[in-house]
Amino acid sequence: MSVQAGDRPRLVFAAPRGAPKAPTHLADLDREGRRAAAAALGLPAYRAEQLARHYYGLTHDGPLTDLPAAERDRLRAALLPPLLDAVRTVACDDGATRKTLWRATGGALVESVLMRYAERTTVCVSSQAGCGMGCPFCATGQAGLTRNLSTAEIVEQVVAAARDTARGETGAPARLSNVVFMGMGEPLANYARVVAALRRLTSPAPDGLGLSARSVTVSTVGLVPAIGRLAREGLPVTLALSLHAPDDELRDTLVPVNTRWPVREVLAAAWAYGATTGRRVSVEYVLINGVNDQPERADLLARLLRGRLVHVNLIPLNPTPGSDWRQTAPASEREFVRRLRGAGVTTTVRDTRGREIAGACGQLAAAG
Ligand code: SF4
Repeated sequence: MSVQAGDRPRLVFAAPRGAPKAPTHLADLDREGRRAAAAALGLPAYRAEQLARHYYGLTHDGPLTDLPAAERDRLRAALLPPLLDAVRTVACDDGATRKTLWRATGGALVESVLMRYAERTTVCVSSQAGCGMGCPFCATGQAGLTRNLSTAEIVEQVVAAARDTARGETGAPARLSNVVFMGMGEPLANYARVVAALRRLTSPAPDGLGLSARSVTVSTVGLVPAIGRLAREGLPVTLALSLHAPDDELRDTLVPVNTRWPVREVLAAAWAYGATTGRRVSVEYVLINGVNDQPERADLLARLLRGRLVHVNLIPLNPTPGSDWRQTAPASEREFVRRLRGAGVTTTVRDTRGREIAGACGQLAAAG
């Protein structure tokens, strides 16, 4: 696939008007909201807290025996409406990687991918149904933006992953340790809901799942004002910047939002994020054969990143239907890595976990 300036995709920052909305769920609400919801049901506030302890403690599917039988069903009906229907789950790597396709309210389809490693278990979640950023190498970007996911729809993907991990569905029972916002959508284009979801994920019970902010990663193509806002939220999550090209001419075509906020501005925002949060910024760079993998681009990238608190994640391009782009040849990949490391830039090549089930980066939605 080639992308000319003339057929550059349109950037869509706002979800279409009138898109279906998910019903309000416990995970949409902070403590005050939960209390208000309990009061609206004529119940004492502590009932909402009990339900929240069950939900974030992953026991909400159980008998809820500490709640009076008459109140249980009302609380469930009001605060735990079903949000995501599992359409199918496919696994590979002997079950250590599982991709689930979910049907959300109104029929929107989203995916999450659960990956078990020796030392951690990570879920990759979607923040939007579709995406309005139009990156031409990405299957999700080809379909456009359907709608924003609600806070609870995002949290539900994590809760489902945590429950499956605890039940031992990816190997021996374990605790979900990491969350990456690298599924469908541009998280910072759904800012308020994503930040609320980050608070639910990182707050201790009964307000959330109690994950460490350090083990949560939010990726972005570079919505500069939103990166600035996120830095001020007091949530030291890792920022992963999808750079994919070190020069504006190429990045304008690979990451169309670059026409709005060019490389210089997006990197300045990333360094400011790192300075405010104390977190090392991750730079994501998908290697595409003959497009962005030349030695001179490695050198330019190295010059931009040298001396910064940064980690480069090189991502071998995953095949998507209808695209002629191929992944970089092994020798070129090695040379790219060598040049970055030679300049003192910490660099790793991401594994291609999930590729067989189209659950790898840039493939979500590729197989519908
Ligand atoms: S790469 Fe990310 S931001 Fe770009 S179109 Fe795909 S999902 Fe959207």
